[in-house]
Amino acid sequence: MAGQPRGWITIHEAVSAYAKGDVIYGIGDSLPPVFGGIQRISGRRSRIDLQPIIATQGRIVRDFTPPLCNRTLFRRDDHRCLYCGQQYPRSELTRDHVMPTSRGGRDKWENVVAACKRCNWQKDNKTPEEAHMPLLAVPFRPNPSEWHFLAKERILADQMEYLSRQFRAKRDWAH
Ligand SMILES: [Zn+2]
Repeated sequence: MAGQPRGWITIHEAVSAYAKGDVIYGIGDSLPPVFGGIQRISGRRSRIDLQPIIATQGRIVRDFTPPLCNRTLFRRDDHRCLYCGQQYPRSELTRDHVMPTSRGGRDKWENVVAACKRCNWQKDNKTPEEAHMPLLAVPFRPNPSEWHFLAKERILADQMEYLSRQFRAKRDWAH
């Protein structure tokens, strides 16, 4: 099955896609059916069986740049400070620029890591080499499947299986 994950939609949006005939195929175990009104001619109640992943018609956008935000960034790094290796709650983590922005480092996935407040303060305006704080893992830009996984708090098993087929194993969550 081809296709590129495009986004999370609500049950309501999924029902409307089914009703409009936009769904080409669905993947995964059926979810509890959604019932609509009684059809006047048949006297039967309309019913839509939803699947957790649906393919709809549309154009594939090749250059998908996953937006960078701390919540997904910290999930990418398993809520681990990439300098000391400890795991922290979200509130204790900061976005560290590997090459500091004051020195031309850019605010992009390949140049940012999760860091605890202490390590971020200690590293200051230095590169990891200058600070003698080597990175424990290489920062990377998530591909669309990885990003859709990271951006979502709860995920169904079928959705995880679909997305994880395109994960590159670079973090614990990818195994
Ligand atoms: Zn740390």
